[in-house]
Amino acid sequence: MTEVTDVAEEFGRLYGYEPEGVWEAPGRVNLIGEHTDYNDGFVMPFALPHTAMAAFGRRTDSAVRVHSADIAGEPVVVADPVPGTSADWADYLVSVVWALRDAGHAVGGVDVHLASTVPTGAGLSSSAAIEVVVALALNDLFELGLERQQLASLCQRAENVYVGAPTGIMDQTASACCTSGHALFLDTRDLSQRQVPFDLASLGLRLLVVDTQVKHSHSEGEYGKRRAGCEAGAAELGVTALRDVPFASLPDSLDRLSSDEIRGLVRHIVTENHRVERVISLLDAGDVRGIGPVLVEGHASLRDDFRISCPELDLVVDSAVSAGALGARMTGGGFGGSAIVLVEEASADQVAKSVVEAFASRGLTEPRVFTAVPAAGARRVR
Ligand code: ADP
Ligand code: MG
Repeated sequence: MTEVTDVAEEFGRLYGYEPEGVWEAPGRVNLIGEHTDYNDGFVMPFALPHTAMAAFGRRTDSAVRVHSADIAGEPVVVADPVPGTSADWADYLVSVVWALRDAGHAVGGVDVHLASTVPTGAGLSSSAAIEVVVALALNDLFELGLERQQLASLCQRAENVYVGAPTGIMDQTASACCTSGHALFLDTRDLSQRQVPFDLASLGLRLLVVDTQVKHSHSEGEYGKRRAGCEAGAAELGVTALRDVPFASLPDSLDRLSSDEIRGLVRHIVTENHRVERVISLLDAGDVRGIGPVLVEGHASLRDDFRISCPELDLVVDSAVSAGALGARMTGGGFGGSAIVLVEEASADQVAKSVVEAFASRGLTEPRVFTAVPAAGARRVR
């Protein structure tokens, strides 16, 4: 837990004046719907209790000064944020100032001190958390009057254009729009949302997050390749996005594609959208345990068709399911990061122990396991 007073006090020590306010924005896990958010498809994330918390003060000039409790050294000063001028962690923050200004909003300079509890590079979206906390604070401080989804879209643009990561809209929307006790069903085409009650404790269930500690930081090239492959598949099928390929016509569509590689990507996206719809139906019907096998299918699809899993993520899923979990899958962009495991409350500790032992017996770094309870989206805390 990051304390609001600690963040405010550290801001004072760094900058020599009291912050005007403190905001926080969460990381997320994605229950189902992976890599569908740049194919106009469906996703279903929920917010974690882990947040990026940041104190802000307005400056009299237009510069941006940022500091992170996780990064040693003095604050980074960016006099005039424009894409292509730097390449470090501070980009995730200053890019949001750029995106708001570029969209015509009157945003002056700010001083920022950040402290985040979202593990970085763990597939839990530490990047969106720090973007969204900046967007929400600037929206309040400069009275921009933007809706949360608009803020999320501007954060996505910041990450795409300024940071250079070709990600979809899920992470930023989750951080900005999730609500406690719910998963967020998001249609990434029209950005319509539905808050779906997701209270596992009352059903005697738990969702474990297993952070394999395998960092996905060298995955950007692979992410971009998957995205380009999906776009090539859509072009070959003559549709705007893979969202437009009906599940029922998948076999016929696959026959028309030029390579096995593209066939795999298309099959994953089309079946994954179908899996999100199945999960929604199951949750609406109150059959939460029924989503277990759908999660396992989703993992197999990411592993075999989309090819973005890794041995450690496969080990979490295999060892958890062997130990009696209802379902498990990797979550987030892939190539490392975290997996989620749906378990009966009564067997949660045993399943977690089995996963940790499976890693130990192979000489792998011990994974970090915690229980995820759907938490609130971004908010002002002071
Ligand atoms: P993920 O979003 O899955 O955690 P990304 O690679 O998208 O992984 O974003 C991680 C990057 O975000 C880090 O490498 C760093 O540049 C930045 N970042 C995240 N949290 C912090 C923090 N607390 N302080 C400074 N930079 C951070
Ligand atoms: Mg990220």
